[in-house]
Amino acid sequence: MTAEITGLVCVKCARSYHAGDHLVCPHCGVEGILDVEYDYDRMKASLRREPLGRREDLSIWRYADMLPTGGLGSRMRRVGWTPLYSFSQLGSALGHSALFLKDDTVNPSASLKDRASAIAVAMAAEKGAGAIACASTGNAASSLAVLSASVELRSYIFVPQTIPRPKLFQLAACAERVFRVQGTYEDAFDLATKAIAAWGWENRNCAINPYLVEGKKTCSLEVYEQMGYRVPDWVVVPVGDGCIISGQWKAFKELKIVGETTALPRLLAVQADGCRPIVDAFANDADLVPVEGNTFADSIRVGKPRNWRKALKALRESGGSAVGVSDGEIAEAAVLLGRKTGLFAEPAAAAGLAGCRKAVELGLIKSDEVAVVLVTGSGLKDPEAIANSVRVCDTGRDLESVAKWL
Ligand SMILES: *Cc1c(COP(=O)(O)O)cnc(C)c1O
Ligand SMILES: [Zn+2]
Repeated sequence: MTAEITGLVCVKCARSYHAGDHLVCPHCGVEGILDVEYDYDRMKASLRREPLGRREDLSIWRYADMLPTGGLGSRMRRVGWTPLYSFSQLGSALGHSALFLKDDTVNPSASLKDRASAIAVAMAAEKGAGAIACASTGNAASSLAVLSASVELRSYIFVPQTIPRPKLFQLAACAERVFRVQGTYEDAFDLATKAIAAWGWENRNCAINPYLVEGKKTCSLEVYEQMGYRVPDWVVVPVGDGCIISGQWKAFKELKIVGETTALPRLLAVQADGCRPIVDAFANDADLVPVEGNTFADSIRVGKPRNWRKALKALRESGGSAVGVSDGEIAEAAVLLGRKTGLFAEPAAAAGLAGCRKAVELGLIKSDEVAVVLVTGSGLKDPEAIANSVRVCDTGRDLESVAKWL
């Protein structure tokens, strides 16, 4: 059974709408991102009938009664129920005794975005749509292309000029069409919006489509279960558009509403110093000022985050914080993660660990507080990014040339 939607509420003006009527608030336009609200008494009753721990489905669909759709069964590749790790050697290296990593690199297209695309694809297929589209810095696109292909939904993808080539070809292998737009992610987003209107495709643009955050929410539902029905002190999230972080907050708030827990975590938003509009808006307690983004962490190079209101609200409500990290710090974190845990993260994903490290150094996160860092995407999506931060030992065919490096 799925959750029953009672309405979609605008994050800007708080007007409420019937599900299915609009994708964004007609009063506020694209600024009026909607938030899905459910019949929580009904959700509570179904959780009582079938407690979380008793579920057999090892995917995001184990939480169907907290989601707007229950998925498409085994037709779609398996998304979610990713490992939660605690590597003491990593904690020791960072002087942090309660550090956990949520490894979302193991999703079908190798990023957390699969959680959101799974919802979009399932809902589109359920209503019999033939085509779906999105603009993306890369990962949302590849996840949409990968999951759509498995259920015979045509995917039309708009990406910026700067997309790393591994991401481009991963998605090009699966998508119906890939449009590489002369310009930034913002330009790709605007063109996708026009094309969607022109050809009537389903809209998977995350910040716009309110149901996608519901999929991202499952990451923290899993964390809660995997920690033995406990809420961590902190959840650390690399932030671009602000959808992932909003989703994590919604997960914990809903767990609280249905009586699973009384505790809530604090959220730490991490952005690259070269593109940190949400960090700055949080620090200045102000509205968002768009920036010209510049960082090698392409998945969070979002100068004009669509979901900044929800993200800032989540940060403030949770008593959380926000930090910026340099590209150098991100690369260092990526290598540390590899060396200490064997996880290979793309720059945006390594930014989470870099931010957690900084927050501990700044005393924002105490060294014994339980922090879960979301490792949001695989390093195989952009392996060249760390080329200058790692060493490859070139040798001849003789032993001496090996010995030289030891
Ligand atoms: C999309 C993405 C993010 C940021 O998510 P937002 O919802 O845009 O804030 C972080 N890391 C990776 C790997 C991503 O693909
Ligand atoms: Zn509104």
